[in-house]
Amino acid sequence: MTTDLAEYRSGVRAWLADADIPTVPLDLDERFDVLRDWQRVLFEAGGLGISWSKEAGGQGLSHLHQLAFAEELAYARAPMPIGLIGLDVVGPSIDEFGQQWQREELLPKLLSGEHIWCQGFSEPGAGSDLASLRTRAVLDGDEFVISGQKVWTSWAHKAQWCALLVRTDPAAHKHAGISYLLVDMSTPGITPKPLEQMTGDREFCEVFFDEVRVPRRNLVGELNGGWAVATHTLGIERAAYTLRRRVDYEIAFEDAVAALRDHGLPAPETGLGRRVRIAIGKAHVALKVLGAQTQKTVARLAAGEVPTPEDSVDKLLLNEVEQIIFGEIAELLGPYRAVEESRPLGLASDRWAHDHLYSRATSIYGGTSQIQRNIISERLLGLPRG
Ligand SMILES: Cc1cc2nc3c(=O)[nH]c(=O)nc-3n(C[C@H](O)[C@H](O)[C@H](O)COP(=O)(O)OP(=O)(O)OC[C@H]3O[C@@H](n4cnc5c(N)ncnc54)[C@H](O)[C@@H]3O)c2cc1C
Repeated sequence: MTTDLAEYRSGVRAWLADADIPTVPLDLDERFDVLRDWQRVLFEAGGLGISWSKEAGGQGLSHLHQLAFAEELAYARAPMPIGLIGLDVVGPSIDEFGQQWQREELLPKLLSGEHIWCQGFSEPGAGSDLASLRTRAVLDGDEFVISGQKVWTSWAHKAQWCALLVRTDPAAHKHAGISYLLVDMSTPGITPKPLEQMTGDREFCEVFFDEVRVPRRNLVGELNGGWAVATHTLGIERAAYTLRRRVDYEIAFEDAVAALRDHGLPAPETGLGRRVRIAIGKAHVALKVLGAQTQKTVARLAAGEVPTPEDSVDKLLLNEVEQIIFGEIAELLGPYRAVEESRPLGLASDRWAHDHLYSRATSIYGGTSQIQRNIISERLLGLPRG
């Protein structure tokens, strides 16, 4: 495929116009299967790992190409593939810091969706303050022996592999005693227990490790150097994620407005008519603000100026815009949001109620809104630490 960005984008658009784009089921297990099949289709079309090295099964193109592909997917109302944790978070770290065998053997299967990955970072006592993690790994000959517990591990019950942060030197300063290991989820001693979210989905798990033996060659980066591996991709991936999600919100907003129009807007002088117009106005303004911010993000990405603390402005704004859009739509659903398969004002209650509930998670995962505010105040504004 061509590397000129505009030509590349139109090639993607042409491919998508002919592609058999799947409909995403609401049921989690069905959704998982459909999106895994879709991942294989995207992989075979050269649409995954676009900015990764060719050695890792990628295309060796830029982050802007990767972004163009993701945006075109959203504009075509095509879903993202299932293995986003592998694709967005774990894979780029292995590509950058991993050993040759890890890149060659693990990454092509990660890209194709043959292997689903999970990210075992958070623990019951270590979320925002991740460096406080306590899951231990002790070297015993050529193997690490791991004991401890993770939580909120998305897709752990479906995953073949886990990128796991473990404490390998309890005596060192907390950031300095952590290692990054690749763990085969079929190893004896691993027990994932799914947790039910308020959406009704069981997407993430508690994961228990009881003397799990992992070969030393599964270490990524240096022993006790896991913190650098864990944090390196977050900036670039966060910027790309913001840009992609902006398009998702734009499409969701367009869909909602189209449904309201098809149904027929209530007259403006009625209470409901005013409410609908206020909701549309608020969501529209939120999208415009996000659009203005993301123009700067594209420029920063093109200039290689990520990660910077400015990424936290994007993440914070993203959290707020998602919650404004889906919150406003949920308000319009009123009590019907709890009634399955109803269509108040022409809005499908199942879809919008689910997206509203899921939007509550945005201000938690990938660094909470409070943590983004801390970063902005301390590192961008130079305010004293609280
Ligand atoms: C949908 C979803 C998927 C997730 N998937 C994964 C996954 O796959 N793998 C994984 O490892 N983790 C995952 N997480 C976990 C996520 O990274 C953590 O929830 C997040 O880092 C926050 O940690 P915590 O839940 O322990 O909250 P805490 O850190 O305990 O925070 C509790 C509250 O205190 C606030 N707070 C904490 N510290 C400060 C501070 N210094 N200043 C101001 N306020 C503060 C927080 O903002 C929050 O409001 C997921 C979370 C969600 C919601």
